[in-house]
Amino acid sequence: MTAGQGQPGPRAQALQPNLDDYTRSCREFTWEKARGMLAGMPGGRLNIAHEALDRHASGEAAEQVALRFLPRDGGSVVDYTYAALNERANRFARVLEELGVEPGERVYGLSHRTPDLYAAFFGTLKHGCVFTPLFPAFGPGPVRQRVEIGEPAVLVTTERLFRKKVADWVAETPSVRHVLLIGDTDETPDGTINAAERMDAVSGDYPTRPMDPEAPALLHFTSGTTGRPKGALHVHEAVVTHHVTGHYALDLHPGDIYWCTADPGWVTGTSYGIIAPLTNATTLVVDEAEFDAERWYRILQDERVAVWYTAPTAIRMLMKHGRELADAHDLSALRFLASVGEPLNPEAVHWGRKVLGLPFHDNWWQTETGGIMIANFPTLPIKPGSMGRPIPGIEAAVAEHTDNGIELIEEPDRTGELVLKQGWPSMFRGFLHEDERYRKSFAGEWYLTGDLARRDEDGYFWFVGRTDDMIKSSGHLIGPFEVESALLEHPTVAEAGVIGVPDEVAGETVKAFVALKPGHEADEALRRDLMGLARKRLGPAVAPRAIEFRDELPRTRSGKIMRRLLRARELGLPEGDLSTLEGGRE
Ligand code: ATP
Ligand code: MG
Repeated sequence: MTAGQGQPGPRAQALQPNLDDYTRSCREFTWEKARGMLAGMPGGRLNIAHEALDRHASGEAAEQVALRFLPRDGGSVVDYTYAALNERANRFARVLEELGVEPGERVYGLSHRTPDLYAAFFGTLKHGCVFTPLFPAFGPGPVRQRVEIGEPAVLVTTERLFRKKVADWVAETPSVRHVLLIGDTDETPDGTINAAERMDAVSGDYPTRPMDPEAPALLHFTSGTTGRPKGALHVHEAVVTHHVTGHYALDLHPGDIYWCTADPGWVTGTSYGIIAPLTNATTLVVDEAEFDAERWYRILQDERVAVWYTAPTAIRMLMKHGRELADAHDLSALRFLASVGEPLNPEAVHWGRKVLGLPFHDNWWQTETGGIMIANFPTLPIKPGSMGRPIPGIEAAVAEHTDNGIELIEEPDRTGELVLKQGWPSMFRGFLHEDERYRKSFAGEWYLTGDLARRDEDGYFWFVGRTDDMIKSSGHLIGPFEVESALLEHPTVAEAGVIGVPDEVAGETVKAFVALKPGHEADEALRRDLMGLARKRLGPAVAPRAIEFRDELPRTRSGKIMRRLLRARELGLPEGDLSTLEGGRE
């Protein structure tokens, strides 16, 4: 088959989705049973690395490729079997041990995608330390800021990144006792250790530490879309959620070729770019290069990717390139497409169906939840624009705030804050140094997500906006997403960002910023056309009053539209923390 014909590949036909009956799975699900899907360690202990690597390395999947690395420059592909990746991680754990790093201490990773980053990740967990990934495109400022907040004992980086982003200030951060270099190292600068060399010199055996399931394992910084990034702490038990959601929401089957395009510097790139695919015994494709439409289609084709997890920003970029590029590739191995990170506009779901032959399945979660909470599943009909239904084991609801806490909204289609019943394994256990903020994230047994949503009568959840992004206009509560989605239906629109601007009469009015696809002119006629479309779709009360054309919209480095910045700039307000701004001040 070639792309666009809408037929599943031969393998896809042979496979039953993991979640065959949503209602039954939800009814029968318990976290206790989910724990039983993992190997565990004696005495009720657990280690994420043991579930992802050790148990496969000593089992049936030992010689299966765990990680397939595609070098940036087109050099030859490097395969690591489960046994080989496990051994490499053991070596990293040994190096930490030799350096006297104690379990519980923090190890930061600041590296582009290279196999030893993955070995360092698991080596850190094997040794009982806490891993924090940092996005390698951060400038020196954001890196230092996060090091000062989290006080790691070890910083794992590359020679190039060390020289560019760390060397100037690391002597002033006393917590950092060791800087370990991975990847290509020509010279080992003063104050650093060539980790790759040390790893080669130590034993490839290491007894992975059995951890208390509640022991800290990961510290993740949020994307900083709404303000200063927060450090969310996760424990080893989170692996239960990673595994189960990989199984149900991404439909991972052992032996699948799987590609997650998120960088491990973000929580998606860790939970679903490292952990879940390996606990589920898939082969993980790791591309060293950054986004390039043609390269991406080639990877899907040549690697015969079956399950692909990506983000709206990437999908919009592919859409911008048109369908010819997709049609020129054989995408017949694809079986399941999923998206996360921002609302997935209905247009993107339709485009997937038309051009790739499969729809994108949107799912919702956040750094704090550690794993997917709400998803579109292969066996349930997709309602384009909806983020889907809660995964088995997750109780999600919509709530309004009252004087003494919150009250759940039972009737369908009413907007409120999205809340989740506490008690799933990957729920964060704290915000680093921000106990008060952590406490305020809960009301009784419910975790408050800070997002607004509504649930329809079929139990599907619809993202409305972040509580901070909502626009109040003449008594209407307007979420930017619905306005942006309507504008995106126009064939010339590549991206849209919508904010509220103060208005004496209406309180606020809606203003849209629009970036066009290449080859289109921003002029008065187009502006009127867009206004007309928005009014037709949304009605005059919700449609934008003003549309401004921009070459591009401000985005976080993880690709999310930063509405708070559009608003600050529009209103001449302080711009706040910009450390996560793409191409921005560092
Ligand atoms: P910060 O908390 O620092 O402002 P952030 O919220 O963007 O940054 P993340 O934890 O990376 O940091 O992102 C989670 C948020 O992204 C969610 O709370 C939600 O607002 C948005 N999001 C994620 N997936 C979806 C989705 N499928 N649909 C709509 N919004 C989504
Ligand atoms: Mg957030």
